[in-house]
Amino acid sequence: MEEINRIRELRSLLHRYAIEYYRNDAPSVPDYEYDRLMEELRALEEKHPEVFDPNSPSQRVGAGPVDGFDKVVHEHPMLSMDNSYNFDDLKDFARRVESEAGKQEYEVELKIDGLGICLTYENGRFVSGVTRGDGITGEDVSSNVRTIRSIPMEIPFTGRIEIRGEVYMPKESLARINAAQREKGLPEFANCRNAAAGSIRQLDPRIAASRGLSAFWYHVPDAIRYVKTQKEALDLLDSWGLITNPVRVVLPDMDAVWAYIETIAEKRPSLPYDIDGMVIKVNDLETQRRLGNTARAPRWEIAYKFPPEEVVTTVEDILITVGRTGRVTPTAKLTPVRVAGSIITYSTLHNEDMIREKDVRIGDSVVIRKAGDVIPEVIRVIKERRKGTEKEFRYPEFCPVCHERIIRLPGESDYYCTNTDCPSRIVESIIHFASRDAMDIEGLGDKTVQMFHDAGLLERLEDIYELDKKTQELLKLEKMGEKSVANLIEAVYRSKKQPFHRLLNGLGIRHVGEKAAKVIASYYPSLEDLENASKEDLTNIPDIGEATAESITAFFRDEKNKAMLESLKAHGVNPKETVEKKETSGSPFAGLTVVLTGSLTNYSRKEAGELLEHYGAKVTGSVSKATDLVVYGEAAGSKLTKANALGIRTMNEEEFEEIIKELE
Ligand code: NAD
Repeated sequence: MEEINRIRELRSLLHRYAIEYYRNDAPSVPDYEYDRLMEELRALEEKHPEVFDPNSPSQRVGAGPVDGFDKVVHEHPMLSMDNSYNFDDLKDFARRVESEAGKQEYEVELKIDGLGICLTYENGRFVSGVTRGDGITGEDVSSNVRTIRSIPMEIPFTGRIEIRGEVYMPKESLARINAAQREKGLPEFANCRNAAAGSIRQLDPRIAASRGLSAFWYHVPDAIRYVKTQKEALDLLDSWGLITNPVRVVLPDMDAVWAYIETIAEKRPSLPYDIDGMVIKVNDLETQRRLGNTARAPRWEIAYKFPPEEVVTTVEDILITVGRTGRVTPTAKLTPVRVAGSIITYSTLHNEDMIREKDVRIGDSVVIRKAGDVIPEVIRVIKERRKGTEKEFRYPEFCPVCHERIIRLPGESDYYCTNTDCPSRIVESIIHFASRDAMDIEGLGDKTVQMFHDAGLLERLEDIYELDKKTQELLKLEKMGEKSVANLIEAVYRSKKQPFHRLLNGLGIRHVGEKAAKVIASYYPSLEDLENASKEDLTNIPDIGEATAESITAFFRDEKNKAMLESLKAHGVNPKETVEKKETSGSPFAGLTVVLTGSLTNYSRKEAGELLEHYGAKVTGSVSKATDLVVYGEAAGSKLTKANALGIRTMNEEEFEEIIKELE
């Protein structure tokens, strides 16, 4: 009985989520949560066939067409796709396929996160663009589809043909549109998919036209009449001017597919559009036909979904930490949950305003997000799940570590512990000083620093360089054997030879992070040079503003800091920067302001940027009249368009690579 009630509950919940997602383009829960609940529903329905209902969300595709557009019945139903989440699922899929149809080749594509659209051409002329709707009936959105400039209105084809693909919004367009929404006080789109779907369902085509949409084409239902494989079908589309995604391959088995998926997963954050997985299709069209479909999805293809970047979990508590600048940060302690492949237990809540704005309470169900290397973040509270027992969080009046009063500075959203000797500040500054991006002292991580501090061995930063005199005390501590102590002393010693920018970053001066430290050190390559620099001198450095200059000069004026620096010098920590000589002679990039856009196949953006800088270019983020050159990769978006409009020189990856090879 309990299970039957749960089936009812899940059906109604999933029905609501489907409407929010498909019709309103405003989901309140992440996809992963929806998929998890759907799986629970499917398993329960299988156990209880007596309550089968053809209207259950488990039996349906989409949520039906919305009003305002003409309804069109699809010639071939637009189905959903089965999902898989790991290598075993994929091997099961191949086993099912090959036990029925023998050994196969698989064509692998990116799963573009937009919305499916079906185009129809008659005697080469575009006649309609229709959404999937409920899979049987869709909405005629032709007037909006026409505004997408990359879709040809004519193709070299006689007769009637249907072509399917995904209309998507590039990440860049989403950022632009959400900024405009914010300015108008309108709600922002949760992601590229919702924004693309919302734009294509605008009744006014001028709005759709302004949204920077694009499309990739990936399926021709009648392809078997013209070609033999999925790959050939896509090549045919390309030859007609219907853009297919260039990232696609044919592979012999699932081992090769898995290896390919792993390489794409790494590139995913740098793609200019969102993908939520990969699609694996039987390449041979005759086999596709033979395998056919279930009521919901084709048997010849499967989606592999990347580990989710957004999941739902519970805030168990809100804790306060004090950072190296004294900044007090609230942190949510979460029920541990797997996001983007790692287990997350804590997530920053930034500051008091953020807690208020998002209305995060202890006990709340929250959506958290972790993408790439970004720190996990609470995105929103699922308020419908509140039970009334959640507790509001109150900021403390005193520092939880040293018990001094904490203050909020005027015009800032953060509270600070004003005690410069607060143990938490000292420990955090030492952790930062020793961290990988700063002095890189291996073996001096956060737990070790805390332990040494508690044992009275690291009371000030400069004590790091006294550790070699305290080996007997170190050996008494937990997990500190002869070898680890010797390694640590060696690492401390080695750190004295680090370049100056690492020391500068390690000092933790406000506004001086890794990047600024590098720039400053290239102008002032030692402590002596920098100590004597005035605020005006510093603001003359490109990209160094007033606030940073003020913060640096204030740091060097402070008596305590002066003593600390003298002590570091006395310990032999006084590094110099060897300023790298740029290879500008004979470089066609020398002196140019260059913008990188799109995804390069053989370089990450960072690598390409570093190469350009090495050869004398200045790399910037946005195209303007000051830009001299735009280097573009696959699926380059509005930056390339803008460059062309402004008549700026552009260069594709091949040309770029050729020049780099010549220079090397
Ligand atoms: P789907 O979106 O996961 O996969 C099928 C679709 O993938 C196709 O219709 C097609 O449009 C698209 N696609 C992209 N690239 C493709 C390619 N190269 N080849 C073929 N197809 C490609 O499945 P669905 O049935 O459309 O929707 C279910 C998904 O929607 C679920 O994963 C779910 O997470 C999400 N959803 C979320 C909520 C929510 O509340 N968050 C609600 C409903 C559905």
